[in-house]
Amino acid sequence: MNSVFALVDCNAFFVSCEKVFQPALEGKPVIVLSSNDGCAIARSNEAKALGIKMGDPLFKIQEIVKKNHVKVFSSNFSFYGDMSSRVMETLKQFSPSLEIYSIDEAFLNLRSLPENELFSHGCRIKEIVKLWTGIPVSIGIGPTKTLAKVANHLAKKQSLGCCVLLKQNDIEAALRNFSLQDVWGIGSQWSKKLSYLGLTTALDLAQADSSWIRKTFNVILARTALELKGISCLSLEETLQPKKSLISSRSFGKPVTSVEVLRQALSYHASSLAQKLRQQKSTTSLVSIFIRTSPFHRHEPYYMNSCAIPLLFPSHDTTLLIKAVTSGLEKIFKEGALYKKAGVMALQLLPEDQVIPSLFQDKEGLIRRKLLFQTFDKLNDRFGRGSLVFASEGFRKTWRSKASLKSASFTQDWEQLPRVR
Ligand SMILES: [Mg+2]
Repeated sequence: MNSVFALVDCNAFFVSCEKVFQPALEGKPVIVLSSNDGCAIARSNEAKALGIKMGDPLFKIQEIVKKNHVKVFSSNFSFYGDMSSRVMETLKQFSPSLEIYSIDEAFLNLRSLPENELFSHGCRIKEIVKLWTGIPVSIGIGPTKTLAKVANHLAKKQSLGCCVLLKQNDIEAALRNFSLQDVWGIGSQWSKKLSYLGLTTALDLAQADSSWIRKTFNVILARTALELKGISCLSLEETLQPKKSLISSRSFGKPVTSVEVLRQALSYHASSLAQKLRQQKSTTSLVSIFIRTSPFHRHEPYYMNSCAIPLLFPSHDTTLLIKAVTSGLEKIFKEGALYKKAGVMALQLLPEDQVIPSLFQDKEGLIRRKLLFQTFDKLNDRFGRGSLVFASEGFRKTWRSKASLKSASFTQDWEQLPRVR
């Protein structure tokens, strides 16, 4: 056998995380909202059965929520991130090679297992992940990543939650009833175009001539067609590529008018970017900021402005980034506007080991600051993000987005651990 991939996908992940520490939610309709309590981004099966769709804005479904006592949660991303690492750590037991594809999905290489053991192995993975983390997962196994994705879709509909697609007959039967729109990476735009040409199911694409697809569309779609045929074109990406640019931005819970509050929000974003840069061992030499009012306010004039601030040296020093965003804000702040969102971007990233120190930099000072930030990051890792902050970020964070329905920080704060009475 050439290659065998398993795609492990957590079921309704954010909702499942909430259920782990609040078992009373089991069997109840539950939804989790996007940031600023906007739309539903995760739904329990019971909530799906009530007709709540992915992306439904809360105000639209308020009626259903009230009538059926749907439990609504603000998103608690740092908690979900923690639960995700628990799931991924557990998965590492089952295969030496693993690609973390998203917060709730991972590909595993199961090539070394005999074909007749794959199904039971999949069921075992599912069992252990549930036992060790409390999170239910579905597992799809196939000879290519795209077919593993298809198998995962089917697994979600089966009671055992595991589906293996390796035999040619099984693959064909599955693809015959599989809509092209649901194939990994196709989406509604391409599926529409393909349907004009008479291709509507995944099998149609698998059987189409791949050089014709490459000529008519592009190489990416041709690759998908080959993957559906069972020819593996996408390998496991085990190492995370460092990002080329980083952004941190947030909508405000209520409109902000004060320059001081904007400065605090931008300082918070600058500080969080600096921390991310140190984590991925890179530096930035260009920081860009933006502030804007709401484009949906009919009676208020729209104002948006941005500004890029070059740094003297490539750096991941929080104080330098905060200084940069503060000076940028002075240039673009306009009095009287009702600001709704602000953010900071770190551009022109360079790995820290490729930075050539400038003649004009104080070498000893640099070493001291490196040690300072190592300690800063260690403390925040140990006691939780925000335990140690820069005063310019402010302490009250009045600009924070709405998250009034957020669950406790079960995994990050001793004070908020669930109690058993
Ligand atoms: Mg999922």
